[in-house]
Amino acid sequence: MSKPVCYSTKAYSTTSPSSPLGATTIERRQPTPTDVQIQIIYCGVCHSDLHFARNEWNFTQYPAVPGHEIVGKVTAVGTDVKKFKVGDTVGVGCLVDSCRTCPNCQSGFEQYCDAGMSGGTYGGTEKWLGTPTLGGYSQSIVVTEDFVLRIPANLDLAAAAPLLCAGITTYSPMRHWKVGPGKKVGIVGLGGLGHMGVKFAKAFGAQVVLFTTSPSKVADGKRLGAHEVVISTDEKQMAAHAGSFDFILDAVSAQHDINAYLNLLKLDGNLTLVGAPDKPLPVAAFPLIMRRRSFSGSLIGGLPETQEMLDFCGQHNITCDIEMIRMDEINGAYERMLKSDVKYRFVSDMATLQAESGKREA
Ligand SMILES: [Zn+2]
Ligand SMILES: [Zn+2]
Repeated sequence: MSKPVCYSTKAYSTTSPSSPLGATTIERRQPTPTDVQIQIIYCGVCHSDLHFARNEWNFTQYPAVPGHEIVGKVTAVGTDVKKFKVGDTVGVGCLVDSCRTCPNCQSGFEQYCDAGMSGGTYGGTEKWLGTPTLGGYSQSIVVTEDFVLRIPANLDLAAAAPLLCAGITTYSPMRHWKVGPGKKVGIVGLGGLGHMGVKFAKAFGAQVVLFTTSPSKVADGKRLGAHEVVISTDEKQMAAHAGSFDFILDAVSAQHDINAYLNLLKLDGNLTLVGAPDKPLPVAAFPLIMRRRSFSGSLIGGLPETQEMLDFCGQHNITCDIEMIRMDEINGAYERMLKSDVKYRFVSDMATLQAESGKREA
């Protein structure tokens, strides 16, 4: 395939693990026949963005542009694009491509592609240009139509942005483990992921129990839909729920005692981890052996399920609780995110990037 022509667009990037993010100009490919060009209106701020910007997963190439909770309007489509037209409201999540041929891709589980995350929205490979992919802290992006999603018209666009990562990360495992009416479901941690877990578990009709270490989060947990909030450091409160849960979604990224939660599962109950602690978690054998419990993980969702999730959110009017920031507030937002000082997701308004002229060289 011949290299497509490129165009320039404003973005926010970082040039090293210790540099702050700043305004720059990046190159994107002009839409090929199967591409959709999107004006980015809002981009959510995920904890992964921070790990990536600071090379904490050791695969970042600089300059790096994070951002994989992208929503905007279609500004151009290639000649072969069938599903989208100029003016459509669309989203792009953590993936902009995949190998498309492995068994997982063929089954619509692109997030588990045998080629790994080479199709990642940032830190992947831009296969037309042979360069690293650049994420959504940008005014515009070009994505193959198969990886573009429809955003239901009734949803607040800014509050819908984090559905593309935080939303699908919690929706997918709850669907897989059949959370629904008659099921008792626990959500561990009330952050960007956990608050969406509570909303989805409630919308699926389950009995929802939120676990938090912070008494200050009890009222908010109930407002978001939890039927009960347990302070996880209170052994008596924990013991009252022993052996009673069908499913627990663990959204905690810090070190914590996983066995305390495994003991709360009933026969054949499952605990799924969606947080990513940086060190291994010790798992004791007996909580698993007793009652045939299982412990698993889950990563975002494939394209079909992500669209299903967005449509479900449209039908049930579910969005994220967000704090809007200007793009030039991103470095401060990262510091607040590290302290879990956000309710419950930052979203950057990309119109604020227009005012920024390339303050520094890329
Ligand atoms: Zn994310
Ligand atoms: Zn694949």
